[in-house]
Amino acid sequence: MTQKVNFGDELVSPEEKTRRVGQVFSSVARRYDMMNDLMSGGMHRLWKDRFVARVKPRIGENILDMAGGTGDIAFRMARRGAHVTVSDINADMLQVGEERARQRGLTGLTWKVENAEKLSFADASFDAYTIVFGIRNVTDIPAALHEAHRVLNRGGRFFCMEFSSSDWPGFSDLYDAWASKVIPRIGKVIARDEDSYRYLVESIRRFPKPAAFKAMVADAGFVRAAAEPMLGGLVTIHSGWKI
Ligand code: SAM
Repeated sequence: MTQKVNFGDELVSPEEKTRRVGQVFSSVARRYDMMNDLMSGGMHRLWKDRFVARVKPRIGENILDMAGGTGDIAFRMARRGAHVTVSDINADMLQVGEERARQRGLTGLTWKVENAEKLSFADASFDAYTIVFGIRNVTDIPAALHEAHRVLNRGGRFFCMEFSSSDWPGFSDLYDAWASKVIPRIGKVIARDEDSYRYLVESIRRFPKPAAFKAMVADAGFVRAAAEPMLGGLVTIHSGWKI
């Protein structure tokens, strides 16, 4: 019998989870960027700036932005002169990203539908691999980390940003109330899709704690695996190196 996995708080087969995650992002693709601003009070922009500052993209580097969605991280890295391949399992998200890139006059990006669990890229193809708010949606996270390690060059950098539960007293209660009550309502009113936003909140709650995820990054073969909490631990930047 196939082992069940969580889709939010529900237990489903791995194939069903991948299918339903696909539905969620196809459903939210057109409103994804506006909803990010509403749900985070614009803070996701600061987190993303901070993340890219940690990645330190260099001119001419080859970077894979996995689960790159509508391109927020890729655009920031391309502006610093890196050649970025934006990959995502969802063609609808990438299509919105390509339109945004055209509107901004950003060229030199490569867009490719890929499942993070099984990449079509050759071994040692990239200098850095980034994945932002993406890995918690992946069904087989160890497989995705293994693939990240495989496609990186020696000396390549792995960077991941993901939500984490805050341990700050008071703040975590406030955040829980915001996440479980307010976000699905914003989703219902603005995006007319309460269920997708409920899934997003549940998937954040279920994602491993930073120390556990750091151990998974190390298990995939990365050295100097680190977890750097930001803003009271709401978001954590994970990193590791391939040697
Ligand atoms: N990185 C972008 C950002 O920060 O705005 C998009 C993040 S969005 C919350 C999560 C993305 O992960 C979606 O575009 C979704 O399609 C993608 N995703 C989910 N499962 C995936 C998988 N197995 N492989 C690649 N991308 C996946």
